[in-house]
Amino acid sequence: MKIDLSDADVVDAHCHPYRVEDLLARDPAAFETRCMFLGTALLSSDHAAHDLAAFVEELTETTAFGLALRRWLAAFLGCEPTKEAVVRARDAALRADAVAYARRLLDNERVRAVIADEGYPQPTIPREEFERALGGVRVHRVGRIEPWILEAREAGSFDGTVGRFEQLVEEAAADPSLIAFKTIIAYRTGLDITDPPSSEAKAAYERWRADGWNETREHAKPVRDFLFRRAIELAKRHERVFHVHVGGGDPDINLAHAKPRDVFPLLVEHQDLPIVLIHAGYPWLAEAAYVASVLPNVYLEISELVPWGWGQIDRGLELILGAVPGAKVFHGSDEASEPEMFWASARLVRASLERVLGSFVERDWLTKAEAERIGRGVLGDNARALHGV
Ligand SMILES: [Zn+2]
Repeated sequence: MKIDLSDADVVDAHCHPYRVEDLLARDPAAFETRCMFLGTALLSSDHAAHDLAAFVEELTETTAFGLALRRWLAAFLGCEPTKEAVVRARDAALRADAVAYARRLLDNERVRAVIADEGYPQPTIPREEFERALGGVRVHRVGRIEPWILEAREAGSFDGTVGRFEQLVEEAAADPSLIAFKTIIAYRTGLDITDPPSSEAKAAYERWRADGWNETREHAKPVRDFLFRRAIELAKRHERVFHVHVGGGDPDINLAHAKPRDVFPLLVEHQDLPIVLIHAGYPWLAEAAYVASVLPNVYLEISELVPWGWGQIDRGLELILGAVPGAKVFHGSDEASEPEMFWASARLVRASLERVLGSFVERDWLTKAEAERIGRGVLGDNARALHGV
């Protein structure tokens, strides 16, 4: 059986801001591919194989999510479900009024607010600008610590770097629209966070600088771990949630040190801080589900599984909701360039929750009312509750 979540509001708990002029400047014919994992990585990764762009484009034709997106958009735009017709109709809608088009997509899936990680793209796109681009749908800020580390280390000394970094974190915390901090240390020196004394971090800083800021675990890691721990203390002081990228990502990821198990000791150590595992450890969902089932203050955000593990979402949600309290699970899209991502991701998750939670009702684990309450929570209510918005 299926439960009915058709009128549930959505909060997208992990996405990235875009600029309208960037949206309009990209190749209209390749927008479907930019919604795929391979296409997104071509934009975001320093290690992507750009000479394979034509091949990546061709692969969209055998990617189920790409083909579904084309058909769904054809129905939404009222055109033939061919690549040419959808590209033409979409481009016309975008050029007529990019803001109205984005708003129409978000309204169609009842996306009422988004939580935007401003660390990508760089330079940072201001919250207000993205809110205008989405036609007034509420945008909440997530401040990423890595750009602040880059800025702070220019201070030229370790003590100066720590002081400048703390100042940047404090400034961000003074903005009430900043609802969480974020780290992508999994992309840099890994999630197995050490606890170096400041003398050790200081010596590492000198070596790191002498090494031309090469991102090594030998020189960069003690400094990054030290500063991440400073940010954790400031997040606690200012009562902010911490978002931590856990799991795979684009090809820049340090995949050997990106698993939920790598960050587990830090999570055990800081159980007084609400920590959201962004991407729920994807593809290591089972590990993340275990972690969130045994530590009360650890939460899971499911982007990457959504939309890029499109055919695994039922299995993934069954695995997660089969062990983790529903209130600790958030929908997210990881949208980073195209407004269709908000829409398609919400659509995928809403339908999946209806099937998965419906099966929980069939198994006599939940009543229909309980299943619907949990489903509404995952789509939007949980992210609102944790972040106080
Ligand atoms: Zn992201």
